[in-house]
Amino acid sequence: MVYVRSLILFLCASACFGEDIPILWSPPAGFPPTLRDVASRLPADTDARDACLITYAHEGNHFLCRGKPGFHCVYIGAGQRWEIPTPPLVTEEVFAAIPRAHRTSIYPIYLRQGRDDYWHSQPLMILDEWRAYTVGSLVRQELGMQKRAETVAHTKTMARFAKQLHTMAKEIPEYDMTELTKFCQWNLGECYRIEGFDTEVRFD
Ligand SMILES: [Zn+2]
Repeated sequence: MVYVRSLILFLCASACFGEDIPILWSPPAGFPPTLRDVASRLPADTDARDACLITYAHEGNHFLCRGKPGFHCVYIGAGQRWEIPTPPLVTEEVFAAIPRAHRTSIYPIYLRQGRDDYWHSQPLMILDEWRAYTVGSLVRQELGMQKRAETVAHTKTMARFAKQLHTMAKEIPEYDMTELTKFCQWNLGECYRIEGFDTEVRFD
């Protein structure tokens, strides 16, 4: 019984979230909550630190994500990462398949990025990026900022890129879609916490 229970806990911990990321310091009280969560888990002098708190949160969220053989682990707040099995897709091919109407101003940057050595075979970097824009948009909202509206537009663009990734992964019979779909559905829900966010994208 104990063995079965530990096995279940182990399976859940390894398949869903992995270990807790500890808090290292207490960021300034003036930081918005979403940034406090990210910043507190990175060293106070992290290279992700930026005068712009949206950028700090976006880059900081990237810093808390991790790749490991066969998986990419996206930071989702509260010290947790979501482990997603890597689909056998070439990132550049995912970008190349994105409908023209969805190729906004950031498209060329990411198409180029997709050719980078690491990104090339790690298409889940698209979700890493989507999450980073989501977190940046939430921080903007918590700061009550009117400018930097493009961060919300880029979050919407990234949701569409994630949809393309999801569609192509679904066509691979041997790939288990469970975690990818659950993550995409969850982060889409997070996007809808952002005022002014809307999209036709759904994940099923
Ligand atoms: Zn980024």
